[in-house]
Amino acid sequence: MISIKNVSKWYGNFQVLTDCTTEVKKGEVVVVCGPSGSGKSTLIKTVNALEPFQKGDIIVDGISIADPKTNLPKLRSRVGMVFQHFELFPHLTITDNLAIAQQKVLGRTREEALDKGLKLLDRVGLKAHAAKFPGQLSGGQQQRVAIARALAMDPIVMLFDEPTSALDPEMVNEVLDVMVQLAQEGMTMMCVTHEMGFARKVASRVIFMDKGKIEEDCSKEEFFGQPRGERAQQFLSKIL
Ligand code: ATP
Ligand code: MG
Repeated sequence: MISIKNVSKWYGNFQVLTDCTTEVKKGEVVVVCGPSGSGKSTLIKTVNALEPFQKGDIIVDGISIADPKTNLPKLRSRVGMVFQHFELFPHLTITDNLAIAQQKVLGRTREEALDKGLKLLDRVGLKAHAAKFPGQLSGGQQQRVAIARALAMDPIVMLFDEPTSALDPEMVNEVLDVMVQLAQEGMTMMCVTHEMGFARKVASRVIFMDKGKIEEDCSKEEFFGQPRGERAQQFLSKIL
């Protein structure tokens, strides 16, 4: 589904990604972790072409991101992304937040978009809040709306960048529960997160990044079960 091949990226002289290679197969949930500044966000943003890279290629569902002929906006519309901050449109109701991209990008009718949006809102447990504005919801609720909004586009893969790290602790689980459910339904997912409970529950693989390199790429059993490299070990001892 996603094939990252020898990707390197520089900001000026600073190399932020060094020869990153990995794969996410259909239905897999890959958890990306690592210290602050190790390049996790940069890597995940290269996958939906939000960040350009200078070397290597990424193939998403058979389409090359490096190929200048690729229609990147079209590709991006099929890759769902949920960030740390919810990034809902504050001036639009929850209903409109869910409907707008479906109408503008996918050309769905208002009725189709509303129907799909409400079904997804129900699925994340927020149907009763459809007419509210984002500011009237808690952080955890807003993040669930952001997930529903991404799902409304029928993505072939979902990318998450620390979706729970800006939330109050009591709201973390309601968001993780939605993500676990998605994973169990077979959604292909790449998740930057330090929620190791989530990783233990649903990860197909765990990637550990350090200084722009993929230092570990293994099953969760291997990652949690056996001694890893020194850096991964240090990192794990801090967060577990
Ligand atoms: P965190 O856990 O703090 O979110 P991260 O692993 O997601 O960190 P990135 O945000 O990918 O790390 O950043 C990797 C490195 O690239 C950092 O050293 C950061 O300072 C640098 N960086 C990120 N964006 C830019 C930019 N636009 N220009 C220059 N350097 C940048
Ligand atoms: Mg980050």
